[in-house]
Amino acid sequence: MIVYWNHSLKDHNTFSIDVRCTQFFVMDQLDDRHILQKEKIFASPHYILGGGSNVLFTKDFAGTIIHPAFKGIEVMEDSDQSRLIRVAAGEEWDDVINYCLRNRLYGLENLIGIPGCAGSAPVQNIGAYGVEAKDCIERVEGFLTDNMQPFTLSAEECCFGYRNSIFKKKLKGKCLITHVWFRLSKTEHYTLTYKALSDEMAQQNLSLETITQSILRIRNSKLPDIRKIGCAGSFFKNPVITEERFQKLQAQHPDLVSHPAPGKKVKLSAGQLIEKAGWKGKRTGDAGIYPLQALVLVNYGGASPEEIQHLYKQVYSDVRKMFNIRLTPEVNIL
Ligand SMILES: Cc1cc2nc3c(=O)[nH]c(=O)nc-3n(C[C@H](O)[C@H](O)[C@H](O)COP(=O)(O)OP(=O)(O)OC[C@H]3O[C@@H](n4cnc5c(N)ncnc54)[C@H](O)[C@@H]3O)c2cc1C
Repeated sequence: MIVYWNHSLKDHNTFSIDVRCTQFFVMDQLDDRHILQKEKIFASPHYILGGGSNVLFTKDFAGTIIHPAFKGIEVMEDSDQSRLIRVAAGEEWDDVINYCLRNRLYGLENLIGIPGCAGSAPVQNIGAYGVEAKDCIERVEGFLTDNMQPFTLSAEECCFGYRNSIFKKKLKGKCLITHVWFRLSKTEHYTLTYKALSDEMAQQNLSLETITQSILRIRNSKLPDIRKIGCAGSFFKNPVITEERFQKLQAQHPDLVSHPAPGKKVKLSAGQLIEKAGWKGKRTGDAGIYPLQALVLVNYGGASPEEIQHLYKQVYSDVRKMFNIRLTPEVNIL
């Protein structure tokens, strides 16, 4: 366990917001939980932080940040058809993908290039290019922070949905995920439901290498390089509305992009709504909307938390005025 006091969080959030926390605990090993328990850390204000790529700190955090950094990928079952792996929370997400590529395991490849740690993947059920983490998650292990009781939840019990899970609802702020179990297929198969990806793949041979290279190319053409420009990926979720409401909206805006969503609903593109509201590429000081993808709010360097907050509230309000749609932040705002 490493402990820092009055620690800057600038390098621990991809928005690169310069705020501080009272204490910063790095959990090098799972057993460090006993120290956290002894120090009664979970009884006072605390927050569990992975790679900080889905958070916006709006002020200093008066409490303890706990960063699970313990690593490990164990093989729990191996057959001709599939491999079951147990991944520790502190593994970098892309290291998990690279493990799959090295071992010719199929299922998660479309999720290459998403920043963050494995322990955070189930929290918002990360997804991209037609695949969600839930498609391969078999179970999630962790402990409840109020009584340190360990738990194991099946994928079904995790109640996964679009950028959602039990960890954003009933268990929000109440548990620490220690391991995620993924079942990967050994049978070659790919998900090509995303049009830009299927168009690209139509030009070349399908393999784990070509599909992941294509995805990285598409991602890099739309998303900023977080080593240079701060952001937390998509700031808002894509709104899901009823078919009836969609038809009314479509009468006013015939070019609205839409996709079918579960429960006879319709998913709109939040990026398109923001673009139509005139925000794409706008910048005030160092806070702005990324010119290549209107769903991404960016910090060009020295934006203060207030500036980013002011910007997202303006965007929210303009989209509401224009479409009567309330955007929901995908990013956790603290
Ligand atoms: C450039 C960019 C591109 C992105 N692209 C995508 C994308 O394509 N698809 C997508 O879904 N997301 C995307 N994201 C968002 C983000 O990368 C994911 O949500 C990622 O899973 C967050 O991981 P993290 O470790 O950084 O989590 P953090 O931001 O540190 O935490 C996220 C949430 O999880 C909780 N948490 C973290 N670890 C644990 C744990 N061990 N136990 C309990 N709770 C925990 C935190 O308290 C917080 O509520 C993108 C972000 C960026 C910056």
